[in-house]
Amino acid sequence: MTESPCSRIDPEVMFPHPSDVSGIEFAKQQVCGACHVRAECLEWALNQFSRSDYGIFGGLTEDERKELVKSRQLGKAERLNYGSFPPKNKRLTAAA
Ligand code: SF4
Repeated sequence: MTESPCSRIDPEVMFPHPSDVSGIEFAKQQVCGACHVRAECLEWALNQFSRSDYGIFGGLTEDERKELVKSRQLGKAERLNYGSFPPKNKRLTAAA
């Protein structure tokens, strides 16, 4: 994670207020969406002692991670499909 996009920006970007919809989408799409360790980051976040940690990890909010944990416990989801992530040569852009 030391070379991930979030390591090169203000850490506050990854911890937007829950009402900050544009900030959440920026972190999920523009930062995590350009990350080559997104899948590993998400698995790391899901396996932490406290799964209610605040912030965006692996492109998901805390609520989305909780839903994924519940789905896995119910056997509905094994692993998210990341398709072609990360997009090649994707660059960070300024927050909207
Ligand atoms: S997936 Fe997002 S939070 Fe995780 S290392 Fe990559 S940029 Fe950072």
